[in-house]
Amino acid sequence: MAKVAFVGLGNMGGPMAANLVKAGHDVAVFDLSPAAVEHAVEDGAHSASSAIEVVEGAEVLITMLPAGMHVKSVLVTGDALMDKVSKDCLLIDSSTIDSATAKEMGQEAADRGIRFIDAPVSGGVGGAVAGTLAFMVGGSDEAFTAAKPFLECMGKNIFHAGDSGAGQVAKACNNMLLSVLMAGTAEALNMGVNNGLDPKVLSEIMSKSSGNNWSLQVYNPVPGVMEGVPASNDYQGGFMVDLMCKDLGLAMENSQQTRSPIPMGSAARSLFNLHQSKGNGGLDFSSIYRLFNKKE
Ligand code: NAD
Repeated sequence: MAKVAFVGLGNMGGPMAANLVKAGHDVAVFDLSPAAVEHAVEDGAHSASSAIEVVEGAEVLITMLPAGMHVKSVLVTGDALMDKVSKDCLLIDSSTIDSATAKEMGQEAADRGIRFIDAPVSGGVGGAVAGTLAFMVGGSDEAFTAAKPFLECMGKNIFHAGDSGAGQVAKACNNMLLSVLMAGTAEALNMGVNNGLDPKVLSEIMSKSSGNNWSLQVYNPVPGVMEGVPASNDYQGGFMVDLMCKDLGLAMENSQQTRSPIPMGSAARSLFNLHQSKGNGGLDFSSIYRLFNKKE
């Protein structure tokens, strides 16, 4: 059992903290939202009155925050937890943020002699609740090895992507590809439907042919084709268009920093941004099908 501090108890952080409690760790939590803290306490964590109090005696600090600016504020500029934790404390940031800030956090930690990894996740709220997230880690071998037992309490597939920032780059690559596959799947299915095909039949054909991909296998975007997916629940739940747009913005930054051409990612980003601008930001990202389909 270890003393774990957890900051950021939203849709993802709340269930992740609960899984650390279930695994037997002594988890202290903090969030700006008292309701989120209350919920975590009901799950067996104990609350702290501030971010600074939460790291007292902590062996591990996990942050799960909206964006780079929040991570920087909590770790370095505002609460400045990097200056409050003990030198032995292992810092794990699982937020999805820009790789430049992740690298900067890695350097800030190194300057203080503290271990830091960027460890963004894939798998959504469902994966956070079930403890089946995929973690993509950037950082030293030593920090990765130290973090693995904790990440295994919250996830199933733990990858060491490379040095500091590499986890965030891997996450941006994955989600950009996901957006391309989902948009492509939606437009192909729509073309088939408009040409008189049953979307179930077409999905079956393509999932057994060379067009097969994750969206067809487990996340079909057409309502009624697959049970238990957001498309069959009015696109509620799942992975919001707002978050996909955020991740595609991060992918864009990565591409610009290295002059990597991303014509497919750029096209997908434009489509998801257009869909978002029509008031669909809170829907699951498979609702991109509605952008193409006349009846939807
Ligand atoms: P969320 O908005 O539900 O939760 C963020 C939490 O951080 C909130 O409870 C907020 O009060 C808290 N917070 C913000 N600033 C804070 C501060 N200074 N101190 C303490 N608490 C603070 O977001 P989420 O859906 O849990 O996502 C968290 C991160 O995980 C994001 O970076 C997101 O991109 C990423 N992510 C989300 C999903 C998903 O499906 N929701 C999937 C993969 C990755």
